[in-house]
Amino acid sequence: MYNFTTRLTAIAAAVAVLFLLNGCAQPQPEPESGINYTVPDQPEMSTGYTPKPGWETSEFAVAAANPLATDAGYQILQAGGSAVDAAVAVQMVLTLVEPQSSGIGGGAFLLTFDGDEVHAFNGREKAPSAADENLFMDENGEPYSFSDAVRSGLSVGVPGTIAMLAEAHAEHGNLEWEELFGPAITLAEDGFNISPRLQGLLDADQTLRKDSIARELYYDDEGEALPVGHTLQNPALAEILRNVAAQGPSAFYNETVAGDIVDRVQSHERPGLMEVEDVLAYAELDFKVDPMCNDWRSYEICGIAPPSSGHIAVMQILGIMDHLEAPSEVLQDSIPTADWLHQYLEASKLAYADRAKYIGDADFVDPPAGSWHSLLAPDYLQKRASLIEDRAMESAEPGNPGSLSSAFGIQPEQPEMGTSHISIVDRDGNAVSMTTTIEQGFGSRIMSDGGTGLKGGFHLNNELTDFARIPEDLDGNPMANRVEGNKRPRSSMSPSLVLDAETGEFVSSVGSPGGAGIIHYTAKAIIGMHGFGLNAQEAIDLPNFVNYNGPSILEQDRFTAEIIESLEAMGHEIDERDLTSGIQAIQRIEGGYFGGADPRREGVVMGD
Ligand code: GLU
Repeated sequence: MYNFTTRLTAIAAAVAVLFLLNGCAQPQPEPESGINYTVPDQPEMSTGYTPKPGWETSEFAVAAANPLATDAGYQILQAGGSAVDAAVAVQMVLTLVEPQSSGIGGGAFLLTFDGDEVHAFNGREKAPSAADENLFMDENGEPYSFSDAVRSGLSVGVPGTIAMLAEAHAEHGNLEWEELFGPAITLAEDGFNISPRLQGLLDADQTLRKDSIARELYYDDEGEALPVGHTLQNPALAEILRNVAAQGPSAFYNETVAGDIVDRVQSHERPGLMEVEDVLAYAELDFKVDPMCNDWRSYEICGIAPPSSGHIAVMQILGIMDHLEAPSEVLQDSIPTADWLHQYLEASKLAYADRAKYIGDADFVDPPAGSWHSLLAPDYLQKRASLIEDRAMESAEPGNPGSLSSAFGIQPEQPEMGTSHISIVDRDGNAVSMTTTIEQGFGSRIMSDGGTGLKGGFHLNNELTDFARIPEDLDGNPMANRVEGNKRPRSSMSPSLVLDAETGEFVSSVGSPGGAGIIHYTAKAIIGMHGFGLNAQEAIDLPNFVNYNGPSILEQDRFTAEIIESLEAMGHEIDERDLTSGIQAIQRIEGGYFGGADPRREGVVMGD
């Protein structure tokens, strides 16, 4: 619970972090843009589980997965930038400093609250127009292994992040587009210190070093990953960002950059089908979509509709649980009780069963009963909740919210990883919740230098492996999420903005990376803050627990033997593993904001 000691610790830690990041910053020459970006000192961050204090601010706040990215957002907000302005600057720095997770070669969803309404933008990657449901089948009609599919030109979707951000900025920006690129360009030119997390991931990845651009950028002559603290410059990325800053998205969606992306995709040993026209056509799209907003208790929670499964699944879990009689105790020593976990895990099985059957790109797939909201209708959730008993189900069957049944096959769970979440509130109270991805760590393991011929560049996503690799089930029913030309793959990303249902005021911004676990990490943070009454940091710190409609996975060494035994006695199959969420959250508190960053990654919160 939030108390005075927590607050003192938070303030002390915020001061320490701000000092580390800003206190020793070298003055930089005044840039032409008018924003005097100063490169912060770069403290070395530890890997593994690093406790975070939580940060209290009074006017604005930004939370991102890397201190340099958070700091770029902070400097933009301080210079009068809007939450969307800061999101653009944060994303460009993340492309450089957290290249394993997100970037201009990937896609993203962004929600922004303007004090009155929530607006949503869909920058999810698309399949090339020539793709069809057999995209991941080899010449013998056999599906590629998941790993071969990922590490191929076939998995690369048409990137969406820059085009989507440009539209969001045109509607919600305060500062000039060009100014938002200053931090990333400076860091790409002058270099940044490789963090322990990036170094560890570079070292562990055996495929990335086979890409000629990655090999030259990240590895030494012996093929060893460059060490922690090495100053890494990325001149190709600096050049691309300079062009996009000056000319807008047309400097990315053009023959030069698209030509290079397509060359790399098509010359891979498992070549993809992307053409330059696919990339050029993406820039012409309209990225604005209707947010999906639903009530839960005294809150209205807004998220992204399909192609993301995230919001619907989070809200189904929350909604189903509210139809059950709450256990007498939900938390014991800051750990959820076995009785509460039983209800959560069972509600999750039901939600993931519906997700596997119904969710695909809304431009291609009809929602059940004519509306995605049918999956969240109170009477439907009540019916689903009535299936939960004292004994755990092995797995759940999908439900049917309408009178007709949909003839979709049920997509088996596939691994997903990577991604980054950004939460921001600006001085005017506008908020952003943005989740951004290149899918796996380092995406397809293919890089592009954007046709610059310079050293470095950016990573191409493997988002198309979020499609069902096999297009139909054993009975021949097509998967809602099968590959089709120009379709967007199903996502789990769950950027969420929580509002007060009565007053319409901002309450919190939250989201996480973590593949299909994103849904659970986001649900946990929302329940922690707004169900259990914890502050954002305490909610993020709660141990992780996930269920994808089968065995339950609990975060390694965070639950007592007694809890595990009780769950097993109820019939749950339990596995313990690392569950590396990367939740960032900012909540409104009296007199300002309280932000939290996930102790399982390198994120921090900054603000004034
Ligand atoms: N590609 C996944 C999605 O869009 C996210 C990957 C991850 O977070 O690991 O749902």
